[in-house]
Amino acid sequence: MAASSPDTPLPGDDFQFILCEGCQQAPSNLKLLTCLHTLCLDCLSKNKAMGQCPVCRTPIPQASGIPDMDNLLFTNLQARLSIYKKIVNGVDLCCNNCKEASEFWCSECEEFLCTRCCEAHQRYLRKENHEVKKAADIRAGSAKDFLESTRRTGNFFCSNPTHKNQTVSIYCTKCCKPLCCSCALLDSQHAPFCDIHGETQRRQRELSTITQELQQKRNRFQATQAVLRDKAARLEEMWREMRELIQQRVEQLVQLLRREEEELLGLVEARQERGRRELAGELQRVEGTLRRMEAAERLVEKMSLYATEQEVMDMQPFIRDSLQELQRLQPPATGEREQPRDLSECRARLQALVERVTGHPEAPSSPAMENSHQVSTSNPAKRMKVQNAGVLTSPVRVNVEDNYDGWNQPGTSCLVSTMTLTCWKTCQMAMMGCTAQGHMGLMSPVPLPPALALAKLPSHLLIIAASLTGG
Ligand SMILES: [Zn+2]
Ligand SMILES: [Zn+2]
Ligand SMILES: [Zn+2]
Ligand SMILES: [Zn+2]
Ligand SMILES: [Zn+2]
Ligand SMILES: [Zn+2]
Repeated sequence: MAASSPDTPLPGDDFQFILCEGCQQAPSNLKLLTCLHTLCLDCLSKNKAMGQCPVCRTPIPQASGIPDMDNLLFTNLQARLSIYKKIVNGVDLCCNNCKEASEFWCSECEEFLCTRCCEAHQRYLRKENHEVKKAADIRAGSAKDFLESTRRTGNFFCSNPTHKNQTVSIYCTKCCKPLCCSCALLDSQHAPFCDIHGETQRRQRELSTITQELQQKRNRFQATQAVLRDKAARLEEMWREMRELIQQRVEQLVQLLRREEEELLGLVEARQERGRRELAGELQRVEGTLRRMEAAERLVEKMSLYATEQEVMDMQPFIRDSLQELQRLQPPATGEREQPRDLSECRARLQALVERVTGHPEAPSSPAMENSHQVSTSNPAKRMKVQNAGVLTSPVRVNVEDNYDGWNQPGTSCLVSTMTLTCWKTCQMAMMGCTAQGHMGLMSPVPLPPALALAKLPSHLLIIAASLTGG
């Protein structure tokens, strides 16, 4: 049987299915895998290490990586298509018998015939169903027509190897084999029989029926595929949203911190300016007093040197009153200037911000930081309560008695002296602090600035702040 070369172009796209599904070529050694994909020997040996079908990943059970079943259908179709192509091209069509130019094709003999040999062939073999076709007729028809007309019916072989040339028309349903008449008549082992064509049609119908039943299963697999794809897409979407949420929330936190920074720097600026002005005023007053004292000394000295008795009598009471007023003046106290009240306020606000973000107090960085607030929040028993607050997972309300009264700052209306440990129900995490407007926060000893007031916060923001910083 003629085999097409691997690079033979195939007529039309209709017959792409006979190609190897690995290399998309048409070699003659096609194998059929249990998954019903078709691969050539080359592709199978390249694929051997994988041990599975490269298209659908079904394992190939053979250790050699080469399935036993040949794809006879595709291999034969390839051969017949290459003959069709040869006839259509019409170049060098020679009689297989005498090498004369050929005009006929017998699909049973699979031979080209010249006019003379064709006449002889018809004389002897017409009765044997050898139908000879004109090459011109084949050229006029399609490849599909040619394949249908050359679909041979008489090439069955008897399953008895010594009867290879016998025509087979009987099928033994007991041993599932095609038989020739001799076997059916002479061998009493075989029975019951049926017509071989009836059996092939039954087998075709069987395949069609199973395929139809499979359609329902296929629908279920397609539905599952859709569900899985949908699920994968939704998961992708959810993770993408989570990434965006993290970025968005962190960005908001950074902006909040930036606003806090601006506010604190603004406070520092204002307080520094006020301190500067106050100090300059005091300096001016002290310098004025010193000039008055210089003037007094000078005047008293000049009076003792040059004044007449009349002048002493007239001016002395006035000068004495002024000197006595100078005597009453006290220099302003300078001791408290080492720890300006404004500076402490700024430090405390910064400390509170650090504690809110990190969840624990900053180590004292200077003696000025050691104030009563710090000592109070560093109390070990209380620290433990704050840490426990972070692991509560169900909605509870716990009151922690605490005499610490660092909440009442000038200008705030909060009168709470008991700290309340409250589960924030929306997210099942615990927060500690006064829940009054502007006082939410972890152990915050000072009121939150308006930027961090609870009412203005996006939900969960403080919690994210605590969890992101490991607090
Ligand atoms: Zn291949
Ligand atoms: Zn496969
Ligand atoms: Zn001939
Ligand atoms: Zn013939
Ligand atoms: Zn036989
Ligand atoms: Zn039998």
